[in-house]
Amino acid sequence: MFRADLHCHSTCSDGALHPLALLELAKTAGLQGISITDHDTIDAYLNHEVFQKDIQVLPGVEFTSIHREKSVHILAYAFSLKDPHIAALSKLHKIRRDERIRKMGSLLQKQGFDIDVEGIVSKNTMPGRPHLAIALFEKGYIRDPKDAFDLYIGDGKKCFVKAEAPSTEETLKIIKQANAVPVIAHPHLIKENKIIKDLLKMDFEGLEVFYGNFPYYHCDKWHRIAKEKNWLATGGSDFHGPIKAHIALGSSYTPEEPFNALLARYEENKLQ
Ligand code: AMP
Ligand code: FE
Ligand code: FE
Ligand code: ZN
Repeated sequence: MFRADLHCHSTCSDGALHPLALLELAKTAGLQGISITDHDTIDAYLNHEVFQKDIQVLPGVEFTSIHREKSVHILAYAFSLKDPHIAALSKLHKIRRDERIRKMGSLLQKQGFDIDVEGIVSKNTMPGRPHLAIALFEKGYIRDPKDAFDLYIGDGKKCFVKAEAPSTEETLKIIKQANAVPVIAHPHLIKENKIIKDLLKMDFEGLEVFYGNFPYYHCDKWHRIAKEKNWLATGGSDFHGPIKAHIALGSSYTPEEPFNALLARYEENKLQ
């Protein structure tokens, strides 16, 4: 059976595996297709030999956006790796992520934690909260990196700083300018009904129907909505490594037909 995991993270953002190690794991897991969807960056595709003959690789990225003051993740697929709109948006995210990690890092230092925030910023293209969590863990301040979210840097906790990203509409516009395919990421995790309602009225072309470890009965509702809207029903694990240890690569996946539709768009864009 054809399976393509269209949602996972590498060391180019907050994943534990190098892009090439991620591809090896994907092949071992028996996947035929993959998209490395790092947070706000396409570095995995630019600096590494990811296009290989024994697995089909579709360019992808997971953009952070803001809607009704909440963070909304948007997956974008099939853009040209030379697209200037995607590059410009990514550059903007780099600046705001560096700044945000410095702010959260400084709040953690004020709590008495001796962590090397500048080291995190300089070593990571797209620093994120997991890097702070791992730093606290490696210094022995917490027993599990996940505890950092529950105690300090989870949404609304004492060292949390809100992300200030472009709006969902603005992000969608940029993805469209690149002729890429915008997909609503993990609708299962969106708590506010108002946000879901708004997103379903926007100009997306796909919905991440199959996600992480969610069982099929939990995805059925999203599958129905995707069918009604004539959107692509995609799937992916959101594999990161130890920071989300319970999620395996390939735990959710995209079937052959929607994957081929996405790949066809990439073939079109890459010739531009
Ligand atoms: P950021 O993009 O910097 O806001 O960080 C968000 C990332 O942190 C997510 O993509 C996950 O990888 C991770 N994350 C968020 N909440 C948790 C949590 N409760 N436990 C573990 N990892 C989390
Ligand atoms: Fe992440
Ligand atoms: Fe996400
Ligand atoms: Zn993700």
